[in-house]
Amino acid sequence: MKILTAFAFILLAAIYVPNEKDTIQGVLYSDEGFVSIKIENGKISELQKSTDLETIPKVYVAPGLIDIQINGYMGVDFSGPDLTVEGVRKATKALWEAGVTSYFPTIITSDIDLIKKNFAILAKARQDPEIGISIPGFHLEGPYISPLAGFRGAHLEKYIKAPNWAEFQEIQKAANNGIKIITVAPEIEGAIPFIKKCVESGVIVSLGHHNGSAKDVELAVGAGAKMATHLGNGCANEINRHDNPLWPQLSNDAITASIIADGFHLRREEVRTFYKAKGVDKTILVSDALDLAGLPPGEYTRGERTLVLTPDVVKLPKENVLAGAASPISKCVGVVIEFTGCSLKNAIQMASTNPSEMFSMDELGKIEKGKRADLILFTMENDQMTIKKTFVAGHLVYENK
Ligand SMILES: [Zn+2]
Repeated sequence: MKILTAFAFILLAAIYVPNEKDTIQGVLYSDEGFVSIKIENGKISELQKSTDLETIPKVYVAPGLIDIQINGYMGVDFSGPDLTVEGVRKATKALWEAGVTSYFPTIITSDIDLIKKNFAILAKARQDPEIGISIPGFHLEGPYISPLAGFRGAHLEKYIKAPNWAEFQEIQKAANNGIKIITVAPEIEGAIPFIKKCVESGVIVSLGHHNGSAKDVELAVGAGAKMATHLGNGCANEINRHDNPLWPQLSNDAITASIIADGFHLRREEVRTFYKAKGVDKTILVSDALDLAGLPPGEYTRGERTLVLTPDVVKLPKENVLAGAASPISKCVGVVIEFTGCSLKNAIQMASTNPSEMFSMDELGKIEKGKRADLILFTMENDQMTIKKTFVAGHLVYENK
């Protein structure tokens, strides 16, 4: 009897046909053709294209979105004093619902001990068997940025300081070497040698919250800086029309610019101009979302700051500046299409492929055989992305029923 049961099991295994979960069908985001994607062991094992228009489900399929700058989500603040691994879990699951399959939790200028404490918590979350797969690294934005009003944005002046390599190494140690990107101002004392050391250690350096001159930007790029953080934001309202930080970063082809295309942080004309100057290959969409994203509008206290959440954006009323965004990156995909007239293919490239390439995350950012099956199914109506299903390494982690 036992032998018979074993035989039946082997027979069943042999005729096992993959169920729906192992094959994903939809309209390929990049060429609008019908595609059938087979998944084995969490990876894409086969891609079949077809022109059989009759059977196309009315959903697009694209690689999962990758957000390299996000401060928190659904009330969980990665820079806050109450951060826990469970909080990171809550944020991660909510981001899956927004189509984000990988993200860099971002910690901003703060007390160094708090920065270290929170990176240690994020490092634990990165080891978590359920959510760690969606956290390939972290972003440290500050504290080595411009202390000037306007340029520092919503960062607290009292914690802003000159770059300190020994201190950064301690922070990186607390993060278990998880910091993959640091936002630095190139004009502050000691910035250029600091940038060089960061780059040598494998950290991507992005210029942001700065008032650097053309020379400062040139020196930073010479030291290995590759990016500009949320270009056009973290900048004073009034600047010199000739000498300002925007032109040198826009004109330098070595710099990839991240932009907050949430419809509020940049005007339509800014997004169009940045996109034309940088092109699709050197633009990365980021949400820069604050933890308030997803909560009802109102006044909130975060650490030592009072913030006002409107339906669209978060403001710091005391300094009359934007404090961050209230929308996930999926909204930015729609806005960049609306503002620039770019294709869905280009928008997804800026929200998934480009960040994966910048950070050498070779398994992510594309739908190709051998890539990790981080996939999203979604509809686009009036340039608005609605996520229907999210897969991480082939597992269905979200379904909009
Ligand atoms: Zn910022």
